[in-house]
Amino acid sequence: MMNLTRPPEQARLDATLVRLQIALPVGIAIAVAVYAGIFEILLVENVPRWTHFILEFLIFGLFGAVAVWVALGWVRRLVDENIERDRQARAQERLLATITANSADAILLLDNEGCVKSWNRGAELLFGYQPSEIVGKHFAVLVPADRTAEIERIHTLLHEKGFVRDWITQRLTRDGRKLTVELTRTLLRDENGAVIGSSSTLHDVTAREKSAMEVRELNRQLETLVAQRTRELAESNRELRRRQYELEKANAELKQLDELKSEFVSLVSHELRAPLANISGSLELLLSDASSLTTNQRDLLSLANDQAARLTRLVRGILNVSRIEAGQTLLQMQAFDLTALIERLCEQWQLCDNEHIWIADTPGNLPSVWADRDRIEEVLTNLMENAYKYSDPDTEIRVRSETRDGEMVIAVSDQGKGIESEDLHLIFDKFYRVERDDARKTYGYGLGLYISIKLVEAMGGRLWAESEIGKGSTFYFSLPLAGHSAAAHPQAMAFN
Ligand code: ADP
Repeated sequence: MMNLTRPPEQARLDATLVRLQIALPVGIAIAVAVYAGIFEILLVENVPRWTHFILEFLIFGLFGAVAVWVALGWVRRLVDENIERDRQARAQERLLATITANSADAILLLDNEGCVKSWNRGAELLFGYQPSEIVGKHFAVLVPADRTAEIERIHTLLHEKGFVRDWITQRLTRDGRKLTVELTRTLLRDENGAVIGSSSTLHDVTAREKSAMEVRELNRQLETLVAQRTRELAESNRELRRRQYELEKANAELKQLDELKSEFVSLVSHELRAPLANISGSLELLLSDASSLTTNQRDLLSLANDQAARLTRLVRGILNVSRIEAGQTLLQMQAFDLTALIERLCEQWQLCDNEHIWIADTPGNLPSVWADRDRIEEVLTNLMENAYKYSDPDTEIRVRSETRDGEMVIAVSDQGKGIESEDLHLIFDKFYRVERDDARKTYGYGLGLYISIKLVEAMGGRLWAESEIGKGSTFYFSLPLAGHSAAAHPQAMAFN
């Protein structure tokens, strides 16, 4: 049970009153003794009656009145102070009671046995018990069965430290629901330090804990997912590395095969060159004196000669490619006049091809280029031959040259069928030919542009094409100007 003792102010008032109770009679007794002793015994015979009256009046009347007046004033002041303190204490109590009563948290006062002494509105709303139903009962009615073991721990901690703070636990409502609460308990002591009970504040954190649990669950799921994805990634990484290894292996095998094939083709071509030259020479000799032959025999001989020339071109092309790929092509770099070369080639083509109009569009005063003259003639011949092969009769084939950004740019334009944009970057690949109706009719092996681009790049230039279906194509290549790049490109060099 709570032990309510008197406050210190009250005790002080009591002590003062006791002191007055003693001091007043003692004072009056002393005054009587003084009067009786001094005046009645010693001076009575010499003092007249009126003097006696005045002295008695001064001693008893004035002294008594002053003593009572001082004592009453003293008591009144103490009582006033006491009343004021009492008023302030009650106001504070009311304030505390209001705060406690209106708090959203449940605030309980428990006595030393753990029985509920006070139950606020917050507790009512949280647990559903009216004060009349719970005050006097042990707080254990609020504790779920699976939490009873915890009570002893809280009790020990409370008595060791004097408080327990932010303890997350569970409590039972009147209708049997479990609430998650944050518990703060504080030991209450009287002015002498004796424990008189404890206060208990319970803050409902069910929703907060539920969200925290959900977040924890989400985190757990996320971690599982991340771990799973990491495993999958590692697995697919392993798979990728395995495939990359297989690809590299297959690539190396292919490269080896390609090298073998190139070696073989080059060997065969090399071996074919001499017999082909003999065949072509013999056929041309026969054709130059064919008067004794019938027309049919002459036609057959001329067909054989054409086929031998075609085979010779293929063999030359293949040998060219294998030399380029083996890095065995030696360039003889020199400064020369490209305009003269272009004009000569156009004239030659016009002589043997009456079907097209060949135009050399070159300004007279262009600077010389720094390149291998024979190789540039080969490149120009490839591009001009393509323009001839892939454009119709009575159309124009124009070869232009101009200086642009410190280099010479040569353009070979035709008015042929053009090239689809998806083929434009493929035509420079080895053996690539565009699938077209005329592909069979036009002779070729898809080597000309491959050889040309390799040669131009080796001389420090670029080769590219622009084309429009139905309108024609233009093949450009650039070359360094003499004097600009002589130092960068030595006179003789091998390339691959
Ligand atoms: P090919 O010996 O087949 O002509 P190229 O390497 O010179 O080999 O050309 C590759 C392909 O590019 C040709 O088969 C052709 O389809 C296309 N091509 C080249 N030049 C032209 C052009 N001027 N007009 C249209 N197509 C062209």
